[in-house]
Amino acid sequence: MTENKKEIKVPECGYVLNQIYFYLTQGCNLRCRHCWIAPKFQAEDSIWPSVDFELFKEIVSQGMDLGLSAVKLTGGEPLIHPDIEKIINYINETGLRLTIETNGVKCTPGIVEKIVKNERAWSGGV
Ligand code: SF4
Repeated sequence: MTENKKEIKVPECGYVLNQIYFYLTQGCNLRCRHCWIAPKFQAEDSIWPSVDFELFKEIVSQGMDLGLSAVKLTGGEPLIHPDIEKIINYINETGLRLTIETNGVKCTPGIVEKIVKNERAWSGGV
């Protein structure tokens, strides 16, 4: 893991950007009754839009210029994003703290290996 060594631009208000919440996908692979966000149900024949990986990287990069120290991945269900492994790898390369809100159903050993590489990672579930 590399450290965030970018120069931080402190806005006139004196506050820096701490964390960005990424609603990575519009879809979820579950339909929980208690869900307050009510995402679109995603199955093999219904794939809903998700955040483009290049756009994700650009937003994170700009955020780091403003002092960003943490990224939270949520949705929908973030682990159904087609580039979720690339996204986690990228966050690990930046040295940012990673938080993932997931139902865990799509959490493979490969994804766990990537998450634990982030020493400040935290994952929560429903
Ligand atoms: S897993 Fe989470 S996002 Fe998906 S329906 Fe359940 S509570 Fe909502």
